[in-house]
Amino acid sequence: MLKDRILSAQALLQRFGVDALIVENLRNIRYLAGFTGSDGVVVLGGDEGWFLTDSRYTMQASQEVGGFKIIEYRGQMEGVSSLLKDISAQKVGFEAGHTTVAFYNELVAALPAVQFVPVGPELDKLRSVKDTEEVRLLTHCAEIASIALQSILDRVRPGAIERDVALALEFAMKAAGAEEKAFDFIVASGERGALPHGKAGNKVINSGELVTIDFGAVYNGYFSDETVTVSVGNPDERQRKIYSIVKDAHDRALAAVRPGITFKELDDLARGYITEQGYGSNFGHGLGHGVGLEVHEQPVVSFRNEGVVEEGMVFTIEPGIYIPGWGGVRIEDTVLVTAEGCRVLTKVPKELQILT
Ligand code: ZN
Ligand code: ZN
Repeated sequence: MLKDRILSAQALLQRFGVDALIVENLRNIRYLAGFTGSDGVVVLGGDEGWFLTDSRYTMQASQEVGGFKIIEYRGQMEGVSSLLKDISAQKVGFEAGHTTVAFYNELVAALPAVQFVPVGPELDKLRSVKDTEEVRLLTHCAEIASIALQSILDRVRPGAIERDVALALEFAMKAAGAEEKAFDFIVASGERGALPHGKAGNKVINSGELVTIDFGAVYNGYFSDETVTVSVGNPDERQRKIYSIVKDAHDRALAAVRPGITFKELDDLARGYITEQGYGSNFGHGLGHGVGLEVHEQPVVSFRNEGVVEEGMVFTIEPGIYIPGWGGVRIEDTVLVTAEGCRVLTKVPKELQILT
């Protein structure tokens, strides 16, 4: 598995005309080398690769890292520059989106004869199509989170505090096997639902309010992302109406996911419908995003992305309507693109649930 990933990354060396590529982003390092620690650098050559780390991690690296020569350094800069000297690299790529200006400046100063070439998000883009092991982990991660949410839904009732709901959910998720929560959960009730990223606060949930809960787990480094909006007490006509608009927009986009369609087309399907219903200006964010070793990664699912959906991609579909002074509705599922369409990885049913 890692071998295929390394080969695809090495193909980038040819594309950018460089004889080595410095990889500093820890997610990309984990993806290529399997290393789960917090300090290390990968240097990828045309037909070999090196994993450099400090003494705290050499033993861990020898257990986790396959396919790379392991080098222990005292300082990152010293380690990387002396390796690049040893292999007589002339032209070296670096991750423009991740390397700091300070690190870059030091490299240039240490190796004045080397030409450094910025490599864009190409390495991150390699991660957008998942292999079978990744699909297995993402599927399990989404399941853990969905099961946890369902097990605590009865706590979302009049008088409950948003923050307590978030805590109960985190506990249930970890009890179900999650190593971490994916992010600070959003539990936004009533008017707070108008905040697309309204983190759980001390507000008391009242009968007659919609509550948006956006949550996810981390399992073996892989993330999940899902959002439900539930009604506490019987919803009024406007709440029902707006919920059904968001649900229909979500369903339309979901039904259209297949290899070959563009991200813009998917976004247009949901956005066009919400706009037709008169709420276009209340849907400010893109339709979704990739999910994998990060909760937000490639691909960007939005009207700005004319790229094409490919089999094996995993991303979210999450339309929403946010109305200041009233509240909001968002419905989010994470899907895996299959040969014919998609498989929904997140498991909580998205029909409006009424909790009393
Ligand atoms: Zn989310
Ligand atoms: Zn999301």
